[in-house]
Amino acid sequence: MENQPTERSWAKLTRRQPKTKVHVEVLEGKCTGCGLCVKLCPSGSWVLSEGTARWMHGMERCFECGTCYHLCQTEAIKWRYPRGGEGVVYE
Ligand code: SF4
Ligand code: SF4
Repeated sequence: MENQPTERSWAKLTRRQPKTKVHVEVLEGKCTGCGLCVKLCPSGSWVLSEGTARWMHGMERCFECGTCYHLCQTEAIKWRYPRGGEGVVYE
């Protein structure tokens, strides 16, 4: 267990730089409100509101894992990596 990364070591390895472009969008006409993205996002970045997935926290906590994009069955999530040097940056 000695070589396992700890939460503190991850925090030391990364920092978050402000993003100048939106990297996650919901195409509201395609969202069925199934809630999968809300349940499975590891950063708790989604909430269901009026039957549609919406951001919480302005996506500032997003880990950029892409899970929401890959699991959405209706392709309602448009996702791209932030520009180089923005978002999650590894030290
Ligand atoms: S997984 Fe897709 S369809 Fe389901 S709530 Fe999220 S965005 Fe909407
Ligand atoms: S990319 Fe990952 S962390 Fe970011 S909103 Fe989607 S599921 Fe959540």
